[in-house]
Amino acid sequence: MENCIFCKIAAGEIPAQKVYEDDMVVAFLDIHPKAPGHTLLIPKEHSRWFYQMPDPLSDHMFRISKKLAQELGQTHKTEYVRLNIMGDEIAHTHIHLIPQSL
Ligand SMILES: [Zn+2]
Repeated sequence: MENCIFCKIAAGEIPAQKVYEDDMVVAFLDIHPKAPGHTLLIPKEHSRWFYQMPDPLSDHMFRISKKLAQELGQTHKTEYVRLNIMGDEIAHTHIHLIPQSL
């Protein structure tokens, strides 16, 4: 989709600090982190809302977000990792993964 910042990151047209990438998704560090390790996971194919994605893609995003959350929690030694599924401010589905402590 034109003028979508996350499509451009997925395509490599805008640089990002990628921490994970496969055929379907990319994860990269948030440029305005709310906590150390704050990561965003996005699908490579443009989709605004998580629940409108094809099942194989949304299933894959959930599997990868679990894996990333486990790794982030271990790396940053936080009590948990918060996951927020967004699509409103930036109209491309993204899952925030934010290491947190209670
Ligand atoms: Zn997009």
